[in-house]
Amino acid sequence: MSDLNTFRTEARAWLEANCPESMRVPIRSFEDIYNGGRNPEMSHPDQKVWCDRMAERGWTVPEWPKAYGGGGLNKEEAKVLREEMARIGARPALDSFGISMLGPALLKFGNEEQKLEHLPPIVRGEIRWCQGYSEPNAGSDLASLATRAEDKGDHYIVNGQKIWTSYANKADWIFCLVRTDNTGSKHEGISFVLFDMATPGVTTRPIKLISGSSPFCETFFDDVPVLKKNLVGEEGKGWTIAKYLLTHEREMISSFGAAGGKKTLGQRAAENMGTDASGRLRAGTLRSVIAQYQLDTLAFAATMEKVTAEAKAGQGLGPASSIFKYYGTELNKRRNELLLSVEGESALGWSGEEYNEGEIARAWLRSKGNSIEGGTSEVQLNIVAKRVLGLPDA
Ligand SMILES: Cc1cc2nc3c(=O)[nH]c(=O)nc-3n(C[C@H](O)[C@H](O)[C@H](O)COP(=O)(O)OP(=O)(O)OC[C@H]3O[C@@H](n4cnc5c(N)ncnc54)[C@H](O)[C@@H]3O)c2cc1C
Repeated sequence: MSDLNTFRTEARAWLEANCPESMRVPIRSFEDIYNGGRNPEMSHPDQKVWCDRMAERGWTVPEWPKAYGGGGLNKEEAKVLREEMARIGARPALDSFGISMLGPALLKFGNEEQKLEHLPPIVRGEIRWCQGYSEPNAGSDLASLATRAEDKGDHYIVNGQKIWTSYANKADWIFCLVRTDNTGSKHEGISFVLFDMATPGVTTRPIKLISGSSPFCETFFDDVPVLKKNLVGEEGKGWTIAKYLLTHEREMISSFGAAGGKKTLGQRAAENMGTDASGRLRAGTLRSVIAQYQLDTLAFAATMEKVTAEAKAGQGLGPASSIFKYYGTELNKRRNELLLSVEGESALGWSGEEYNEGEIARAWLRSKGNSIEGGTSEVQLNIVAKRVLGLPDA
């Protein structure tokens, strides 16, 4: 038996024995996604049980090095693990900005002390992170950020404001872009720092959205002390780290485009709208729209898998992540539009049992944010034009 087959047999047995039945149910809403943290929010207590068991093997982040708590798996083993989890319908045990964004940046730019301090708690879901990038006058033009960090010897004093900080009110720590120097070009003088959200001087204020939820916050820093040991990389050179982290954020967001759920759109449409004698969806035009969507989704998933596998062997996706971010978020919007069409009137309801708590309508609204977060579609197209295709400025 090859090593990979042995690994598959062992992983299968372990998953069968350890994944609670309640965690073999599709994720229905954001509440079913386990983000960990000091005060974890759960829709079911088994979310933590499942996370703890997976974390013990490092399988919440299977490909991170064992030295930092990860699973130390190679990409073939990690793929087998994903397949075996999919086979029993196991939910991801943990989903966090620490895993998808900060971790990769720390692995590349952090010093040994920072990796040992922060990566294992991310693997175990003990610390929840938020992202302090955007400011009221620095969104797409992120390098215009103005939050200041003043040098006080062994620490900085941070003052300023961030906005659209997702889950800042639930996060334990923040990875934050601050300005340590104002004298050079706007891309110089930016530093990448980490600090505890419980530090005196940090305030968060939730921003309520049309969807009824409130993932966003305004985040204020008033004389927040940040030890210099929490500066990642060199002072004033944080822009490179910020961009690297964004490529991982964009890759993560683009994966929503390949998301499915247990039933395909075609199956959901057939159930809701009926089929003809040959078992095909009765509504002809919608049938071809759904078929095109499903083909595009399959092609996207296959391309993502191929390109990310190649990229992991090298330096990550780089600016090509913008192609995936753009296309994946457009696909996700198409999926949600189509879901509304096939589910009919009940999908439009907002609250109450008969409307499934507005799950479909809320997901449809949320998908709009996909093409804004992590850099808007227009900005991704600019990056693709300039940095992937090498086109000149207009
Ligand atoms: C769901 C969601 C979650 C988010 N979470 C976080 C978070 O956790 N942390 C965080 O720091 N930020 C977060 N953000 C903020 C997000 O990164 C910014 O909204 C985004 O970068 C756009 O910036 P802006 O909102 O200031 O829009 P602007 O930059 O003001 O853009 C407004 C419009 O102008 C267009 N535009 C701007 N410049 C150009 C250009 N050069 N060429 C063509 N068009 C242009 C944009 O595409 C957009 O349509 C989140 C946003 C969303 C929607």
